Amino acid sequence: MACAVAFTLCCVLDAAEPSATTAAKSAPISTAEASKFVKEYYAGLSRADIPAVLAKFSESVNYREDRQRDRAFIEKDLRKYVARWPLLNLEPEVLTVSTEADGATTITFNLVYSVANDTTKRSASGRSTNTWIVQRVKGEIQIISQRETVHANPTPASEKYPQRQSHEEEEALSDEELKNQGDMRIEIPPASSTSKPSVPPAKGARKNPGDFVVALDIGHTPSKGGAISARGVLEYEFNYRLVTELFAQLQGLGFHRSFVINPRREEIGLVQRAAEANAQNADLFLAIHHDSVKNRFLKTWEVNDKTQKYCDDFHGYSIFFSNKNAKAAESLAFARKLGQALLNAGFTPTLHHVAQENRLIVDKEKGVYAFDDLVVLKTAKMPAVLLECGVIVNRTEEENLNNPAYRKRLAEAICRAIQDFSSGAAKDN
Ligand SMILES: [Zn+2]
Repeated sequence: MACAVAFTLCCVLDAAEPSATTAAKSAPISTAEASKFVKEYYAGLSRADIPAVLAKFSESVNYREDRQRDRAFIEKDLRKYVARWPLLNLEPEVLTVSTEADGATTITFNLVYSVANDTTKRSASGRSTNTWIVQRVKGEIQIISQRETVHANPTPASEKYPQRQSHEEEEALSDEELKNQGDMRIEIPPASSTSKPSVPPAKGARKNPGDFVVALDIGHTPSKGGAISARGVLEYEFNYRLVTELFAQLQGLGFHRSFVINPRREEIGLVQRAAEANAQNADLFLAIHHDSVKNRFLKTWEVNDKTQKYCDDFHGYSIFFSNKNAKAAESLAFARKLGQALLNAGFTPTLHHVAQENRLIVDKEKGVYAFDDLVVLKTAKMPAVLLECGVIVNRTEEENLNNPAYRKRLAEAICRAIQDFSSGAAKDN
């Protein structure tokens, strides 16, 4: 876990090979023992007893995201976590224990969590699935690998700290504004085409899923949550949930090197997002958002005795690419594939960005727009696209997006477009 509820996304399936030479000679770990071990761990964490929790780790641990970490690193991470969430309610449940032929023991369980911070007025809840590999060292059980996949519940926007409906226009900065931010070195990769990206996408870019790296960007942050749905839930929570599900599907399809930018729900700037994808040499940058409409179109209704804003007049997805992206032609090619895959799966595009924001529509049928100054798109060095999955101020569309089967269909369509793009399929349709 680390941050228990570390908001870590990871692949439970490819847990590290345990070095279980010492474990092989020890007595097997029983379910009762494993259960006690897990319970003690979370009890220690809940009372911020870091030494007690730390004692449960081996000297070197495969700790999240496939990295070997020492105890000093884990201690720092644990301290950060309990400082961030002073109020912890962590309930492990449903535990399975399996001992491998090499003597290492795998413990899998669900964790129901709710965490809060009175000072920052933030809270989060949900459940996570956990896979730990443990071994017995001198009679003591120790963790040698720890993985957690978090499924967060969407949280309603706080009444005390109301958030403004924001739109993706706030995610856009001119090149000049971007340079004037000055807080970090900003590099805008040279665009391959400054006008119309008419160059066909490069051939020979075919890659196997295992070599093709998709960087998934969760639009907005917990404190600047973007749009607010018809039922008062922040866009960020919809983005987070869909990215989590999309990431899991990609892992299942063999895109093992794909990753989520900022999975731990921290505050992150726009430039940092693309910088991370650039640093990791991603092959595709995909930002996930959920859409709203201009304030003048919103009406009010009451939900659980609270006034919320909605608009049922617009629905559907939209796709944005930037002509200022270094790989503008490939970005557009992927945008078209994505639009086609969504159409094939029965989704429809919304065209309201044309009338409401004067946005340039490049492909009306597939719902593809040009939005050149979107910071994440123009600062990414690889093909980059932003998808608005649906209009969450629309009451029916919000309900649809809260339906797991609907989201599964959506994620499947996105995956098909990624598969098509990564395999270098030349056709757009
Ligand atoms: Zn957004």
